[in-house]
Amino acid sequence: MSSDVSKYILQPGILDIPCMQKDGLYPDNERIRRGPVAVLECPQEIPCNPCETACKKGCIEIGDDITSIPRLDDQCTGCGLCLPQCPGLSIFILDGSLPGGKAAVTIPYEFLPLPEADEIVDGLDRYGKSVCDARILSIKRQYLHDLCYSVKLEIPFTQIHDVRHFRKKTTQGRKNEV
Ligand code: SF4
Ligand code: SF4
Repeated sequence: MSSDVSKYILQPGILDIPCMQKDGLYPDNERIRRGPVAVLECPQEIPCNPCETACKKGCIEIGDDITSIPRLDDQCTGCGLCLPQCPGLSIFILDGSLPGGKAAVTIPYEFLPLPEADEIVDGLDRYGKSVCDARILSIKRQYLHDLCYSVKLEIPFTQIHDVRHFRKKTTQGRKNEV
């Protein structure tokens, strides 16, 4: 059952992804398997639009009514330029094209210390619960004036709609294969 703030939110922090896919607000699994693509996890009518101007290809549309829910068109290449420009940390890049049942999710990250490349961390779902091991593929900062990093994680494809954050492991000996 949807919440009173958006029909796409089941409960705080939990999106109804099938419902968003049905209304064209979220790429389907077939598109995600073809390669990197942005997902805009922004289903509330809020006055905000930096994502629209961040995409130089014009793939994100909000329009004249600044409270409209952002829509992504099918030209998105998953370049990630829009990701650190979202003040709500609501944009992620999903890539389901990795071999061996793996996928990549790139998340906005504003914490220190930063992880290291190849580090194995806990992949966290929207509840903050650890759901899998994740491997750090890259850490990038795209804008010198912006302290939001884009951290790319390798995860099992089966967790691609769940993992949206990570936590550094606190104990040794938990470096399982992802
Ligand atoms: S990932 Fe790149 S192409 Fe896709 S919406 Fe963001 S800026 Fe545009
Ligand atoms: S910038 Fe982020 S929070 Fe603002 S409308 Fe775009 S996706 Fe939503």
